[in-house]
Formats: sequence, structure tokens, C-alpha cells
Amino acid sequence: MEKTYRQLENLLNEELYYPGRMIKRLNENESVFWKEKAISNQLEAYLDATPELNFRNKNMTADSKFGIVNKAGRLDLQKLISGFLEFLKQRNLIRNEKFEYEKLTLQPDSISYNDVSAQKIIFCEGPSADQNPYFQNLKFKHSKGEILELKIPELNLNEIISDEVFVMSAGNDRYKVGATYSWDELNWKTTNFAREELLAKFKKITPLIPEIISQKAGIRPTMHDRKPVVGFHPEYPQIGIFNGLGSKGVLLGPYFARQLAGYLAGTSDYIHPEADVKRYFPSFPSSDQGVKKQISRFGSEKLVEN
Ligand SMILES: Cc1cc2nc3c(=O)[nH]c(=O)nc-3n(C[C@H](O)[C@H](O)[C@H](O)COP(=O)(O)OP(=O)(O)OC[C@H]3O[C@@H](n4cnc5c(N)ncnc54)[C@H](O)[C@@H]3O)c2cc1C
Repeated sequence: MEKTYRQLENLLNEELYYPGRMIKRLNENESVFWKEKAISNQLEAYLDATPELNFRNKNMTADSKFGIVNKAGRLDLQKLISGFLEFLKQRNLIRNEKFEYEKLTLQPDSISYNDVSAQKIIFCEGPSADQNPYFQNLKFKHSKGEILELKIPELNLNEIISDEVFVMSAGNDRYKVGATYSWDELNWKTTNFAREELLAKFKKITPLIPEIISQKAGIRPTMHDRKPVVGFHPEYPQIGIFNGLGSKGVLLGPYFARQLAGYLAGTSDYIHPEADVKRYFPSFPSSDQGVKKQISRFGSEKLVEN
């Protein structure tokens, strides 16, 4: 992960990744478990076995114990997305428009879409993938999440706090606090209910009174087994998918993108079996026979034989 974001920093000439520590609040039982874990399983580089010696914050409620995760960090996604968008625009490599499935035409070894012809198409649609006619047998279980941005001048917190909510510095005395999880009413509207839930959980961490700067809602694109979904459609090998990153897009994205890129470049055919899209097509024949007899999902014959 870090290697990828450092490469993107070089490419865009922007600082994007801020390594740091994550402080986990623990109850008595968790604290014993934490110490056992920290000195076993080769996790010493990640978990601090003596957190009580290494973390203090006078503004946090004192009745809890702490675990420390080293090698945590924060990625400035806003900067990454706007910077990379600009990079692509300058090279005429992106079009900002709604993709319409009806306009996609398949040939045995390629695709075309309006004036674009390509060997492959990879769908990276986030939660909208449940509308994709080529992936109707995938089992999605998206979740909605809401997050607050708070201003708390006295907190002086550089670490990321992980408790019932996380608290992460966004600079200038502002902190992101999140997130909620809900599985119904999947939309991008913020709610009073989520705001109250986040504030109540935040109150358990510090008695300081925050000023609310903003509230945002999003949908985590998640599969039924909470594993990503990566790879090529066994029936239409020209069509790929990269999705299901759930609540860990920043962490998992680079790992699985590298596998997909290796596959595309022909340098590797490895896609982690737990994430491979083929898990949703258990009985599909492995040969390319399916491509030959394919009828479009839109009712008309769309496959063009070369
Ligand atoms: C509240 C909240 C907190 C989170 N916190 C974290 C965190 O701390 N760390 C972390 O790693 N992850 C976090 N996540 C998860 C993270 O946001 C996702 O894992 C990530 O956004 C998934 O990326 P994606 O590109 O697959 O999908 P998305 O980010 O959903 O992007 C999909 C894109 O496809 C576009 N699109 C879809 N259909 C079409 C179409 N037909 N035509 C054109 N464009 C289309 C959409 O507009 C969108 O831009 C959080 C999510 C939420 C909601």
C-alpha cells in the first residue's frame, strides 16, 4: 500500500500519504489479548506490547487502556483524486460521462463503445455495479456510512483513535469522526440519526465539546462475503470487474489492482482465489465456448464474430 501511494506522490508531485500511529481503546479483556498478540505471530512491527508507556492524551477519557498500531496512516484522498483526475485530463485519458451498458458491443476478443475500441473493459463502478447486466449473479451487500467533520481546537491529537468510532486529524484543529453502518435506505443523504449516533460515541472518547463543520454520507461497495471481487467474466473474457472493496478501499485497492494489472499485462495469471470473480460462476465451463454462443443481455445479438 505505502509503495503505491509513494509512487503516486512522485507522479503527481503532491504529498498524499501521512504515516502515523493508531490508538485502539481496549477494555480489560482486550488488553490482555492485545499483549499476547503483540509478542506473538510476528506482529511486533505492528502492535506495541507496552502501549501504556507510549501514549497519553490529557483530553481523552482516562478510564480506558490503549493498544497502539504502528504503521497506520492517513491518505489524503481528496488530493489524490483531484490530482490524478487532472493528470488524466491533461493526457486526454478520461471522459467524464455516464456509461450506458446498451452502447457496449462485444467482439470475441475485444469491445467497442461509441468511438472507443479496446481489448478489454474493466468495470469499476462502486455500488452501482448491482445494475450491471453482465454481473447480475454477483451477491452484493452494500452498506451506507456517514461521517462528521468536527472542529476541536483543544484536542491536539496526532494519532488516529479507533474505538466505537474513529477520530482522525484532518489538519487545522479539524477531525474526521466516523463511521456509521446501515444496510437499508442505501442513498447519499445525511441523517440526524447518524449524526446523533456519531456524537454520542465521540463523547465517550473525550469530554471536549466539538463544533460540527460538515456531515457526509456514502455507500461502501461490499460483497456478501466481504471479499473484493476482481477478475474477468468467465463467459465474456473481454469484460472485467474491480469492486467489493467495502470499507477498505485505500488498503486493499493497491494489492488487488497490482494483480489485475499483472493479469492484463500477461506477466501473471494470479488473482487471489478469495477475491476472484469466478467464485460467483462455479459451474461455468472453463473454455471460451460460452463467448461464441453469447446473446446480449439486452435481447439482441450483440456479439460480432470477426
Ligand atoms: C463513511 C465511509 C467511510 C469510509 N472510510 C474508509 C476508510 O477510512 N478507509 C478506506 O480504505 N475506505 C473507507 N471507505 C470505503 C471506500 O470509500 C471504498 O472502499 C471505496 O470508495 C471504493 O472505491 P471504488 O472505486 O470501488 O468505488 P466508488 O468510490 O464508489 O467509485 C465508483 C465510481 O464509479 C462511478 N460510476 C458508477 N456507475 C457509473 C456509470 N454508469 N457511469 C459513469 N461513472 C459511474 C461513480 O460515480 C463513482 O465515482 C469508507 C466509505 C464510507 C461510505
